[in-house]
Amino acid sequence: MADGLDFSGTGVLVTGGASGIGRTTVDAFAARGAAVAVCDLDPERTGEVVRELGNRHVAAPGDVSQPDEVAALVETARTGLGRIDVLVNCAGVSDSFSPTAEQTIEHWQRIIDINLTGTYLTCRAVAPDMMAAGGGAIVNISSIAGLAGLPRRNAYTASKHGVAGLTRALAGEWAQQGVRVNAVAPGYIRTPMTQTLIEAGKVDEMRIRRRTPMGRMGEPGEVADLMLYLASPLASYVTGAVIPVDGGYLAYAAATDAADIEEPRTG
Ligand code: NAP
Repeated sequence: MADGLDFSGTGVLVTGGASGIGRTTVDAFAARGAAVAVCDLDPERTGEVVRELGNRHVAAPGDVSQPDEVAALVETARTGLGRIDVLVNCAGVSDSFSPTAEQTIEHWQRIIDINLTGTYLTCRAVAPDMMAAGGGAIVNISSIAGLAGLPRRNAYTASKHGVAGLTRALAGEWAQQGVRVNAVAPGYIRTPMTQTLIEAGKVDEMRIRRRTPMGRMGEPGEVADLMLYLASPLASYVTGAVIPVDGGYLAYAAATDAADIEEPRTG
């Protein structure tokens, strides 16, 4: 592939790789020649993805919030792939949307543990090998909630701000060793996570579309494309960046709807 996005001979570990943005990212790297280690919580679903991809790829299931499991899954990926050149952190969970006074500390802790501590643990586990090999690339997932606040979604907002801060701190520490660390900050992307929120009435698709200058939700592939770029040599001078992929959502501050959306016809 002559477009700078050829990942042949590259080992890529993707967490949250069995669903949504992570799944699409796994396919995108595999299609460009990478050998991919797929991490997700459910070993069955993780194995299923790898069976669909073919035997160049590796299943590395595990819970990213648990230090022992992260050590084990990174070892599985390292052994199976021979090397980890790229880490993409897509594992994550949404928030409850309940009023703050009704939220429990267990609820807060779980989201911080998965979204923020999980990202920290996987970055920490892969970096020494990347440095020893002369470099590597890490792409984390923050969110529009990592750059602005979503009321009632305290733990999610704090975890995604944390991922943005962690990305910048690690980028500064590891730049001299050739390890670039960046993050994408998606807006509302059409995945099983958002579909569940829409179906539960927690997120209103029409309001999102009206609030988004481009007038639509994003597709997982539009996030994966930015991840490919950030992981590739095309981004050789990019580190510590947290880049929105949100249809203009965060750039828009006017007090009116950003886009004219026709209500879907009913009946
Ligand atoms: P998704 O379809 O639910 O995929 C997330 C995957 O991560 C699921 O397979 C999930 O497994 C897995 N996972 C959850 N906890 C894990 C753990 N402790 N260890 C390993 N894997 C775990 O969600 P998505 O929409 O693609 O979101 C992916 C990432 O993008 C998340 O970090 C999310 O916060 C972020 N993001 C999404 C949007 C959006 O609009 N979709 C916007 C901004 C940011 P289970 O299904 O078993 O829980």
